[in-house]
Amino acid sequence: PLVLGIETSCDETGVGIVRGQTLLVDAVASSVDEHARFGGVVPEVASRAHLEAMVPTVERACRDAGVRLEDLDAISVTAGPGLAGALLVGVAAAKALAVGLGVPIYGVNHLAAHVAVDIVEHGPLPEPTMGLLVSGGHSNLLLVPDVTHDIRSLGSTIDDAAGEAFDKVARLLGLPFPGGPHVDRVAREGDRVAIDFPRGLTSGRDLERHRFDYSFSGLKTAVARWVQAREAAGEPVPVADVAASFQEAVVDVLTRKAVAACREHGVDDLLIGGGVAANSRLRALAQERCDAHGIRLRVPRPGLCTDNGAMVAALGAQMVSKGRQASRLDLPADSSQPVEQVSS
Ligand code: ATP
Ligand code: FE
Ligand code: MG
Repeated sequence: PLVLGIETSCDETGVGIVRGQTLLVDAVASSVDEHARFGGVVPEVASRAHLEAMVPTVERACRDAGVRLEDLDAISVTAGPGLAGALLVGVAAAKALAVGLGVPIYGVNHLAAHVAVDIVEHGPLPEPTMGLLVSGGHSNLLLVPDVTHDIRSLGSTIDDAAGEAFDKVARLLGLPFPGGPHVDRVAREGDRVAIDFPRGLTSGRDLERHRFDYSFSGLKTAVARWVQAREAAGEPVPVADVAASFQEAVVDVLTRKAVAACREHGVDDLLIGGGVAANSRLRALAQERCDAHGIRLRVPRPGLCTDNGAMVAALGAQMVSKGRQASRLDLPADSSQPVEQVSS
């Protein structure tokens, strides 16, 4: 099936077109620069940017893929979770296209789409696959027996998301927003065992109660305190060492719990997605630990890890191929759609 997918859950207007399991085009217009001066995504700014970018991005996607709208078999769209106003723009556009073209619409879950995108990169997903999703808004461990209708949440962050921690620590170190890529770059010059930052929820009662959950706000506070103590003492802050040690604390816990989840559930394939999956140390440590336990690791290329339309099209195409029921035309945008609800 030829499917066009629309993603507007946060600050990226993404339009992707997939034929079966082949990605034809992935067009993204980001409003990230408009948010940079606020140090975070501003919902109203994002909604307006989606509205302005939608039609040109759909047109560009079709042109670059050499596809006419009339050729499409279905439209898929992120229905949630995400920013309510931002989601509404995508859902309204998708409905208009589906009605105009007389094709079915599939409202899908943003997190499921982050997992499904790897099908266009590395082929069919083994069933089950373990998914580790780490982005600015999410940190989830997902057991995925079938990405089109059966996803189970094993754990998630109880406070900050991993990407959020990267962005906050970057800000503390005077690095630009979004901070993840800058911390990654600066950390390459630093010593990752220089400072022993805390690993949240990894021992004692915490671990028992939160086997596969994450916590990064204590780590962020520990980094802030460490930096403040240095400054108060009038000593220079070793930015590269702080970045490397912080990053190590995050990726150590992420990979440790993901591998433990694979072993406990007898799953041989781990897929990492979301913007933080672009992190070079996360990729390296995950590979090392997966190799040690005979787990196969899949990580889509960085451009498919951050929010994009291709992932929504990829999941939509799977829905059509597997004969899943299409959504109703009055499907709502659900800002807090649970991860277990793959389609709406
Ligand atoms: P959502 O959480 O809804 O998916 P988002 O826009 O926050 O939305 P993404 O676009 O997938 O999510 O990811 C952006 C996040 O990824 C930011 O927090 C950014 O700092 C982080 N990030 C990007 N590259 C890297 C990297 N190399 N290392 C660490 N973090 C990174
Ligand atoms: Fe995302
Ligand atoms: Mg983003």
